[in-house]
Amino acid sequence: MSSPTTAVVGTGIVGIATAYYLAKQHGQGNITLVDRSQPMTFTSAQSGENYRNWWSHPTMVDFTNRSIALLEEIARDSGNRINMTRRGYALATRESDIDTLVAELRKGFGDKVDALLRFHTGGSASTYYPFEKPDWEGVPDGVDIVQNQDLIRSRFPSFDHAIRSIIHVRRGGDISGQQLGMYMLEYLREAGASRVIGEVKSIAAGNGFRVEVSTTDGVKQLQADRIVNAAGPFAGKIAAMLGVDLPLQNVLQQKISFEDSAGAVPRAQPFSIDLDPQLIDWTDEERAMLRQDADAAWMAEKMPGSIHCRPDGGDGGKWIKLGWAFNNTPSEARWEPAFDDNFPDIVLRGASRLTPALKTYYGRLPRGMHHYGGYYTMTKENWPLIGPMGPEGAFMNCALSGYGTMSACAAGELCAAWIANAPRPAYADGFSMARYANAQMMASLLDTDKGVL
Ligand SMILES: Cc1cc2nc3c(=O)[nH]c(=O)nc-3n(C[C@H](O)[C@H](O)[C@H](O)COP(=O)(O)OP(=O)(O)OC[C@H]3O[C@@H](n4cnc5c(N)ncnc54)[C@H](O)[C@@H]3O)c2cc1C
Repeated sequence: MSSPTTAVVGTGIVGIATAYYLAKQHGQGNITLVDRSQPMTFTSAQSGENYRNWWSHPTMVDFTNRSIALLEEIARDSGNRINMTRRGYALATRESDIDTLVAELRKGFGDKVDALLRFHTGGSASTYYPFEKPDWEGVPDGVDIVQNQDLIRSRFPSFDHAIRSIIHVRRGGDISGQQLGMYMLEYLREAGASRVIGEVKSIAAGNGFRVEVSTTDGVKQLQADRIVNAAGPFAGKIAAMLGVDLPLQNVLQQKISFEDSAGAVPRAQPFSIDLDPQLIDWTDEERAMLRQDADAAWMAEKMPGSIHCRPDGGDGGKWIKLGWAFNNTPSEARWEPAFDDNFPDIVLRGASRLTPALKTYYGRLPRGMHHYGGYYTMTKENWPLIGPMGPEGAFMNCALSGYGTMSACAAGELCAAWIANAPRPAYADGFSMARYANAQMMASLLDTDKGVL
């Protein structure tokens, strides 16, 4: 008997990974991947491609640990075609008292925490594992908490000298999301999966699913036993076609990347985050002018922390990426989002606080600078939605917010297990709609740091 047919809506990294694990772990390669465009061209093309196992909730730690283990497996099997590095996440603050931050680490790592935290306050640097090489194998798990000022100055020479503490999360780094998607698509092609380019306009349930797809050759009807909603920012619209209302919102986030010809950011620097809130570095006149403009006044006031910076394009490259997910106002998803022209200047000035050498680009960002972005599609508690969705045979894999590249493997594996009705990990129910029936759990999730970066 041939395996049941599955239509996956969306060939971003989440839809691709779902199909990949359905074929690879359950032998069900009878899959049609539907997307209005080429694979990996919408949100998944805008990702910063960073990964970490640092979260304030043990369930998210388990989920991302599983995903990173699967990424490592692919890196190993493919001769590291996905360009996995492991320099970690360096969280920097000017505070010496970091008890609150350490308490958050304890919440996330739970019982294992004591084996995972290494404090470097004294004179010795010998136990602080180097990060200068991009190697991903052999690097310890856990977190180095560096408060020895000489060690900070010598290992992070480009950082603001007021930095007093660095929390260096070691199971973190970056990958090539595009290569990951291509690797999985090649496997799927071999496994017999097919692709249709066209926009899904309607879905009718009953005796499987009838999917109406608008293509350049006219309207096509697809029939499948099961359907997977992996439509990223449009997952709410796909769910609505089946009469399901998903608690989703889209929040636009932006980034810039440019050639760092001045060498302001050392090539071996980990993904670095300035945790401290700040007043953006405007001149007094600029700040006064901003305050007079009702639409721009917010830029003159205190901004949240978590601005990030990393080298891009490998050790031999010159580009850097800067991002700051300060927007928290949801908006309607659009195929061509409009970006704020002020963002490049805001993020550059913000990032210059941690890396003062970036000030050299004030007023003269290179012409080839790339200003881009996309939506964090998220639930209010910032947990994903993975599992059954309304009518029998319909599934969802969405709301992967700002962590969908790093968690795509575990999300794909979990959704595939739901589809194949196979054993599922302990985090399965919490990521399904079942969590909304648990008022206590929801209250505690809404009260926990949501890990939006
Ligand atoms: C600026 C930014 C930085 C990020 N940085 C990171 C990071 O560093 N690390 C990390 O892990 N994650 C990061 N993310 C998050 C990550 O990029 C996303 O979570 C992930 O790409 C979501 O993948 P997806 O497949 O769900 O969505 P998408 O990539 O958007 O794919 C959905 C697909 O569905 C298709 N589709 C939708 N509706 C229809 C329809 N009606 N018919 C046909 N096709 C349809 C779309 O064309 C699209 O191709 C970042 C996101 C942004 C925006």
